[in-house]
Amino acid sequence: SKEFNHHAELTVCIGGDGAFLQTMHEHNFPSMPIIGINTGHLGFFQEISPDKLDDFIFNYTQNMYRLQKLTTVKATVKTEDGATTEHIGHNEIVIRGSHSYSIHLNISIGDSFIERFSGDGILVATPSGSTAYNYAARGSIIDPSINVMQITPLAPINTNAYRSFTSSIICSKDSIVKIAPEYRFEDSILIVVDGVEYQFKQIVDISIFVSDLKVKLLRMSNYEFWSRVTEKFL
Ligand code: NAP
Ligand code: MN
Repeated sequence: SKEFNHHAELTVCIGGDGAFLQTMHEHNFPSMPIIGINTGHLGFFQEISPDKLDDFIFNYTQNMYRLQKLTTVKATVKTEDGATTEHIGHNEIVIRGSHSYSIHLNISIGDSFIERFSGDGILVATPSGSTAYNYAARGSIIDPSINVMQITPLAPINTNAYRSFTSSIICSKDSIVKIAPEYRFEDSILIVVDGVEYQFKQIVDISIFVSDLKVKLLRMSNYEFWSRVTEKFL
């Protein structure tokens, strides 16, 4: 029952946004289109309400839908033992300390040094993830048709001792964000990918960029991003 056919024409995901994210990760971001049936709470990605299933099947068989291509972000984590691991985020990738100390991160974009961040951590959000944790951290909501990534500080410290940007930064799809931790108390860092934690010791640096991997979400003809935002949030 756990078999997943990567040659099927459509993935149907039943649940809330959490189920959607879990499906993407469990099946390694399948390249086929995906549709969500919303039985969860918010359901930003979950297009179809269960009582509209018949309408959906009709529209699908009549090809009355659009494919929304969603940008993902990718992080490459290099550790002192020479190992490199890769993570793909659909909503966001968060870098934070694994304990409650403040964390210090040297952040560059391309060849430009941007800042030495101090605070809880930083969050790098995709446009379609901008309405999730990013928004709660006072980041901006970005129309998913714009191919960018957003760096949002988590509780940045701003004193005479430490200075960090207090607003989000929005980078082009060609930027490489490099994050080098500065260790004070311990060398343990959490990389949180769409809510799932990975703990690392002795990270040398982390590179984050817009990935080539796109998620193809099926949307019905009446789907409109900004009306969905107001409908879900206000
Ligand atoms: P969760 O704790 O249930 O998620 C919190 C809420 O975020 C849920 O209502 C979820 O919708 C909603 N959500 C997920 N993706 C969204 C998106 N792109 N736009 C708007 N809302 C979205 O955990 P989860 O369901 O596994 O989702 C993981 C996500 O939770 C993470 O990627 C992160 O963005 C978010 N999160 C938010 C905070 C915060 O806001 N302070 C803290 C940690 C994590 P459903 O109810 O439909 O599941
Ligand atoms: Mn959830």
